[in-house]
Amino acid sequence: MKGRRRFLGHMALSAGAMSLARGVMAGPAESAVVRGGRVVSTWDFGVGANQAAWQRLSTGASALDAVEHGARWAESELCNPTVGRCGNPDREGVLTLDASIMDGDGRCGAVAALEDIDHPISVARRVMEDTPHVMLVGKGAQQFAMAQGFRRQRLLTPEAEQAWREWRERAKYEPQINVERNLTPGNKENHDTLGMLAIDRDGRLAGACTTSGMAWKMHGRVGDSPLIGAGLYVDNEVGAATASGVGEEMIRNAASFLVVELMRQGRTPMEACREAIARVVRKRPEASRSLQVCFLAMNRHGEVGAFALHPGFVYAVCDADKQDTLRAADAVYDGAAA
Ligand code: ASP
Repeated sequence: MKGRRRFLGHMALSAGAMSLARGVMAGPAESAVVRGGRVVSTWDFGVGANQAAWQRLSTGASALDAVEHGARWAESELCNPTVGRCGNPDREGVLTLDASIMDGDGRCGAVAALEDIDHPISVARRVMEDTPHVMLVGKGAQQFAMAQGFRRQRLLTPEAEQAWREWRERAKYEPQINVERNLTPGNKENHDTLGMLAIDRDGRLAGACTTSGMAWKMHGRVGDSPLIGAGLYVDNEVGAATASGVGEEMIRNAASFLVVELMRQGRTPMEACREAIARVVRKRPEASRSLQVCFLAMNRHGEVGAFALHPGFVYAVCDADKQDTLRAADAVYDGAAA
């Protein structure tokens, strides 16, 4: 803990000077592979989501179609308590879903605090394509979804309801850092998001972000994931970025936009993610010790980088040659090595 404290102070001052110890970036030598398309996603459940997206990308679909398809896979995954239909509810026992989708031309759509509708990512896409707006929330988002043919259904699973009942016994809001998935008993995984970025064979970028948000959040709380610029940002001129972790920190820093703008200024995806983490720490050094923030980025050449505040962030990369799960570099480790 002492080392971590020392590091977080150090990180605030000189993130740019630190050596890269972990995390993998696709290099220029791989550009031929990238020409066939590539998809990356947050967390280990990103592997299955990538496979679903790759089915589309590899047959010539657009990056936008691919990320929607991949995100739908994650939203349907029956054992994921942090994304989609099996997500954990808020502290009132209500499951609310957030999602956003964006392409590299600046077209985007989002839904927040959506109840009782499966596949928020597809509702977000309809918002983008069939309304003059970018974001719909709560009842309005639900009404729009139903008007678009989505079925209203109770999504809260018996497992999620049981987890909520157990949580209520202590009723303490305590976001967990995913340190090596070392979760304390009785306090299971209580947040994570599928953030997915793709480049298609025509070099077009797109991204999707979908989550049930922080478990046991206040009713009405909206995190970063559906907020364009916070949980997701895509620009064909530069690249794309997405985030996972405690969303309030991403919102404070317009973090995904920040990562893309740092790439615009010449940073590699990894450097941009690392500098954005440094910004998060600088703003709230005390809070940064106990919460997780993770960034994943891809530039317009398909090169990928990631960086997290604390250890434990993994991301999945899929293209014609490989399907890898990689461990992101993190501020704590970097500091110990510095
Ligand atoms: N960013 C999500 C939120 O704040 C949660 C997560 O990705 O861990 O709702």
